[in-house]
Amino acid sequence: MKTESRSLSTYSTFLAQVKSSQVQQVVIKRDRIDYTLKPEFGGQHLYTHSAGATDDLPGLLRRHGVSFTTLQENGDTSGLVAGILLSTGMLVGLFAWLAKQNQAGGGGSNSGFGGGLGGGFGGLGVGMGMGKSNARVYNQAAGKGKITFADVAGVDESKQELQEIVDFLANGEKYRKIGAKIPKGVLLVGPPGTGKTLLAKAIAGEAGVPFISMSGSEFVEMFVGVGASRVRDLFNRAKRQAPCIVFIDELDAIGKTRSANPVGGNDERDQTLNQLLTEMDGFDGNDGVIVIAATNRPEILDPALRRPGRFDRQVLVDRPDKSGRLQILQVHARPVTMGEDVNLEAIAAQTSGFSGADLANLVNESALMAARNNRQAVLMADFKEAIERVIAGLEKRSRVLTPMERQTVAYHEVGHALVGALMPGDSKVSKISIVPRGMGALGYTMQMPESDRFLLLEDELRGQLATLLGGRSAEEIVFGKVSTGASDDIQRATDLAERAITQYGMSATLGPIAFEKNQAQFLDGGSTRRAISPEVAAEIDRQVKQAIDNAHDMAQTILRLNRDLLESATQTLLTAEVLEGETLEAILSQVKAPEGLPAWLTKG
Ligand code: ADP
Ligand code: MG
Ligand code: ZN
Repeated sequence: MKTESRSLSTYSTFLAQVKSSQVQQVVIKRDRIDYTLKPEFGGQHLYTHSAGATDDLPGLLRRHGVSFTTLQENGDTSGLVAGILLSTGMLVGLFAWLAKQNQAGGGGSNSGFGGGLGGGFGGLGVGMGMGKSNARVYNQAAGKGKITFADVAGVDESKQELQEIVDFLANGEKYRKIGAKIPKGVLLVGPPGTGKTLLAKAIAGEAGVPFISMSGSEFVEMFVGVGASRVRDLFNRAKRQAPCIVFIDELDAIGKTRSANPVGGNDERDQTLNQLLTEMDGFDGNDGVIVIAATNRPEILDPALRRPGRFDRQVLVDRPDKSGRLQILQVHARPVTMGEDVNLEAIAAQTSGFSGADLANLVNESALMAARNNRQAVLMADFKEAIERVIAGLEKRSRVLTPMERQTVAYHEVGHALVGALMPGDSKVSKISIVPRGMGALGYTMQMPESDRFLLLEDELRGQLATLLGGRSAEEIVFGKVSTGASDDIQRATDLAERAITQYGMSATLGPIAFEKNQAQFLDGGSTRRAISPEVAAEIDRQVKQAIDNAHDMAQTILRLNRDLLESATQTLLTAEVLEGETLEAILSQVKAPEGLPAWLTKG
């Protein structure tokens, strides 16, 4: 089967095209939308990210009479179902069937149906040119439609890190002369719609070099070997065009951890990945080719991809905070006529948790709303309505916190910070944020740098335990109950306490005996526990519990004493969303230490 190459379109363009009846057919996938324009509008095959999709896309499509299919991709078959061709007759039948399914609320049940169809049609396009990569080349140096860093807003930290890459490409000679090694691979990691693809294009635009782009899913075909030869072809083209950027979007489609089991594995994907690794080893950053890849699922990537000489640089592209959202709104509001009452700052304040794509979508929805009402400019009322619609869509996917959840999170985080401020050692809280972080698996926590210290003193360890329990304790004190949000802290506290007692020998009664051998660090095998008697096991459990209880009491005592500060700091956090630097220091310096505390609890 030959996968058609699709060009990226924006979600807002897609909506506009649907609404002006240019779209022939749509395939809705888990996080992207493939669609084809009617022949009279060019018949192009396009795709867009559905990150900002309002929930009623099916309704919208139905209203505009567009045929659509919903597919639930499950990684392995994603390549197979990419290019299904359905006859119009079948589509009508499928459409009616899907409509019924949707009404019945059975969103998931149609996935098997769609997948099966795709598989069945898979054999059709066996043909020539399969091993050629159908990568798109944007020659941004030509200037037309050039994307630069100015188009990407609100992700300043990521931009800064990438600025360097631009310099490598633009002034490669400078680095080569002095003998420096230019990095080969940069991995952009972040939730969907935060501007990873946009950033990659901006790098090419800034450096003025060609940008060869291909999506991970386009490599994966049902025929073994095709993906691998596409990778080879892609890199050959890149080397001919150097200096240039190779951009692999949705790297996770090929970069999944290779199957451990040689028999039941996914040959095709493994081969594609192996070829990618080989190609990356086979050239030098100094050849002028830099590979940028993007993923929103870093946790499933094969560890081999992150080894030195491959994607050894990672840049986090996270959801924007309030000021970031304001900047993004400003970028997208530029071409739109705004009414006088529109206050972008107020909109930024109300859209916590929105990604860049969500915000772009929001501006466009508002513009559409104004146009539909035959107004010359967008009013605040349009924004209000659009925000509600977008939020309703996002809440379903649990990305936007309800006001109550937001409050709980704020008290919780401030709880960590206040307790942490009194604890000995240097792992201080440097930043508190209640901007939702979608990358749970990335373990992105600024508040608790369980730093890469090799030696933790016993006191620091106890301090860390108390800090970990600070979040939960704050919830208990304020609400009289706890949320599930503390479960990760509790897990970490328990692990830490157990390690303290069984590995570091920090227990008075058990003494310095390592009950748990520290072997699992490099091997994935289970840790080998020394054979211990049931009595000792019970004693370990008792001591772990004791350590946690002590820490919990400590956290509670501190927070009760600083109840007012907990309140005022939380209110500040709720408005600012992020507390860091001097503001945070000013708050933390006010924390009062309870009297009669154990000797180890001393400031600083
Ligand atoms: P990702 O690749 O991270 O899923 P994209 O780069 O495809 O996200 O973003 C989709 C669209 O959302 C962009 O084309 C742009 O219109 C908008 N967008 C996303 N992030 C930003 C940002 N930081 N600044 C401006 N626009 C953004
Ligand atoms: Mg993308
Ligand atoms: Zn916590």
